Amino acid sequence: MERELPLVSESVVQPAPAPRTRPPRRRENYQPTGKPPWLKVRAALGPNYRRIESLMRDLSLNTVCEEAHCPNIFECWERGTATFMILGDICTRACGFCAVKSGRPTELDWAEPERVAEAVSAMGLKHAVITSVTRDDLTNGGAEIFRATIRAIRERCPGTAVEVLIPDYEGNWEALAITIEARPDVLNHNLETVPRLYPWVRPKARYERSLELLQRAKAMDGDVLTKTGIMVGLGETLDEIRKVMEDVHRIGVDIMTIGQYLRPSIKHLPVERYYRPEEFDELKRMGEAIGIPHVEAGPLVRSSYHAHEQLEKLSGVNV
Ligand code: SF4
Repeated sequence: MERELPLVSESVVQPAPAPRTRPPRRRENYQPTGKPPWLKVRAALGPNYRRIESLMRDLSLNTVCEEAHCPNIFECWERGTATFMILGDICTRACGFCAVKSGRPTELDWAEPERVAEAVSAMGLKHAVITSVTRDDLTNGGAEIFRATIRAIRERCPGTAVEVLIPDYEGNWEALAITIEARPDVLNHNLETVPRLYPWVRPKARYERSLELLQRAKAMDGDVLTKTGIMVGLGETLDEIRKVMEDVHRIGVDIMTIGQYLRPSIKHLPVERYYRPEEFDELKRMGEAIGIPHVEAGPLVRSSYHAHEQLEKLSGVNV
């Protein structure tokens, strides 16, 4: 029997403007007034920030914190956390929201997993988050490197939880199985946005395929926590967000993140709307009322933001 869900108060979550009938143009210089105060962050280059920066340079490692222009970099790096980006720094896709370089990637670096493990050890991480560029040029999308990286961290830092944020592997379920075989604590794959906006936000991805990936990951290993995330502010409606949450709940995802889309440059998709902090609180309530075990929602929430705290909260649920 379907549960009746509490309605999100219209007074809190403002109705989004009517969906556009045409794609937002990448070069369209549309911003809904200036950036609101709750999105302003203080750039503090403290000692830990500099330590992580030089560690990454010394070990020739990339982080998504830098490549994706993450607004939390000063806070996260000062707290001693970072998200490693493996498989190079050139992505084979060119999503409308993403600041990572796209083009023809370089060779595979088989020594990278050991260097990531060395950095995890040097940073003393309790929770390591590993993501990658998308490598559609490789047979298994680089899944073997994900597996080797998880194993190298397990070997060197047995007490560290490992979270991987993986691409869709173009629906190659063998590649997914290779990743799952190394038993990450959390398998994350972002839906990024509502299905209607896929042609502009993730033109080479398919919403249903991403849902299937998350569902299959859970079926392959029920102990792995699954996680996904979306950005808001790209022109989605509240009903569309609710429908995504229902899908996420239906396929048994444990953690969902929701954050504000920020435009990395004029070449990227415009921001349609800035959500207020209390609207994020309401989205969190809505997702958890639908039944998702943990929803992390806030203007500056990103997939890896406070990832360890999310795992701790759910450790009694699945791990
Ligand atoms: S939220 Fe994630 S990507 Fe952003 S700085 Fe923190 S660890 Fe890096």
